[in-house]
Amino acid sequence: MNSDLVIYNTLSRKKEKFEPLNPPLVGLYVCGPTVYSDVHLGNCRTFVSFDIIYRYLLHLGYKVRYVRNITDAGHLEGDRDEGDDKFSKKAKLEQLEPMEIVQKYTVGFHDMLRMFNTLPPSIEPTATGHIIEQIEIVKQIIKNGYAYEVNGTVYFDVEKYTKEYNYTILTNRKLEELLANTRELGGQDEKRGRLDFALWIKAKPEHLMQWPSPWGNGFPGWHIECSAMSHKYLGDEFDIHGGGMDLAATHHTNEIAQSQAYIGKQPARFWMHTNMLTVNGTRMSKSAGNGFLPMELFTGDHPLLNKGYSPMTVRFFMLQAHYRSTLDFSNDALEAAEKGYRRLMNAIGLLEKIEPRGKKSTLKLQEYKDRFYAAMNDDFNTPILLAEIFELVRLINSIYDGKTAISPEELTELSEMIHGFVFDVLGLKDEGSDSQNNDTDGLMDIIIDIRNKAKEDRDFETSDKIRESLQEIGIQVKDGKEGTVWNKI
Ligand code: AMP
Ligand code: ZN
Repeated sequence: MNSDLVIYNTLSRKKEKFEPLNPPLVGLYVCGPTVYSDVHLGNCRTFVSFDIIYRYLLHLGYKVRYVRNITDAGHLEGDRDEGDDKFSKKAKLEQLEPMEIVQKYTVGFHDMLRMFNTLPPSIEPTATGHIIEQIEIVKQIIKNGYAYEVNGTVYFDVEKYTKEYNYTILTNRKLEELLANTRELGGQDEKRGRLDFALWIKAKPEHLMQWPSPWGNGFPGWHIECSAMSHKYLGDEFDIHGGGMDLAATHHTNEIAQSQAYIGKQPARFWMHTNMLTVNGTRMSKSAGNGFLPMELFTGDHPLLNKGYSPMTVRFFMLQAHYRSTLDFSNDALEAAEKGYRRLMNAIGLLEKIEPRGKKSTLKLQEYKDRFYAAMNDDFNTPILLAEIFELVRLINSIYDGKTAISPEELTELSEMIHGFVFDVLGLKDEGSDSQNNDTDGLMDIIIDIRNKAKEDRDFETSDKIRESLQEIGIQVKDGKEGTVWNKI
């Protein structure tokens, strides 16, 4: 197991050496989607980022329990207990049961993440499946004196909490600043303090999703579900809690407060936040109207897109930015990613065609490998890792062209390195290996046979025409001692 991994911890605002609480076990909790509408590309970026983090921890030999929840209840339109419940609103709009909404968009979410080749989490708990656990925690927080009930709704008492704990520990914001950004309470309000938030919300009789509780019929607040599920599956304290950056100021701040008030402990040692996917500098979101669906990106069916891009091109595009940097969508960047991804897959394809020779080891592959690990150990720096991998692509091309020799042992080592990092860690896959592309392989065999026949017949006009036409559609044909080979450029 490699112990040189450092991770940027939002909590300390610096990079820290990663040492799990109980090695080789690692507990990782990531806030999942609110399944009331299709996931947009921004959401996918966050889940792809955590997929790489999960994959790398597995690669290092850790036994990771990766919990990613499904928010299927309790998420109101506003982060601070205002507005309608997102599920009930959508259910009324689409004239469906709320759980039909949940099912529809959970299936869509899974389909999308499968297209991006992300690994499923170890546990994917739902908020509605953990109502009892949430009620138990709320009861205990009330008992510990950090929450109060008003007319069937239970609020977290932030003012009381701030007397003993640092409420803004995660973001380091000033309390006065937070207060200034929150509206003043009026006579109608049940809350005692402006920053208080709901742990349990009283349901109106017509509310579609409600459960009995010690405070009457209601439903849980959004933040309490993650405290309940992370606690249940990962314990009082676990290694990493993650989510998009937009969750730090409210959702994660409140999760920390809930855990402290419940058992007097911070839930997670490391808090990791992924940065946003932006469009012309503005965060992609449903409400901003600049969000597009991954499917639109794959088909190219969107006014912002010049053409469609394959899922692995999009994954490659995401890998080209560090997870803590914003990533701005653009056609140019995607076209560059498409070329980069193809070059990489071509080089990997060439590995199978290379004939090793000689015995001496001269390629210094260990140095490349050290740089691969150095990149990932530095807070999962995928853009640096990709740059290092492209150094290896250059080497592979040079070996294939016969300019550099490789021994059989080195070829095995090189293949293992590239497969381990490109496929296992970065989670890319060769889209050329699906059945459609097997057809291409078969067709290319036929075309090459026809061309060879033409050459035998000294019909060079035809054989050259075939080669040039293939070149025009991005297929390079090379005649060598071992016969004719081809690859996509
Ligand atoms: P939601 O379904 O809105 O609860 O969001 C699911 C996840 O996607 C959360 O971790 C959000 O922080 C994240 N997210 C939302 N918008 C973006 C974006 N534009 N770029 C990256 N992540 C995002
Ligand atoms: Zn959460």
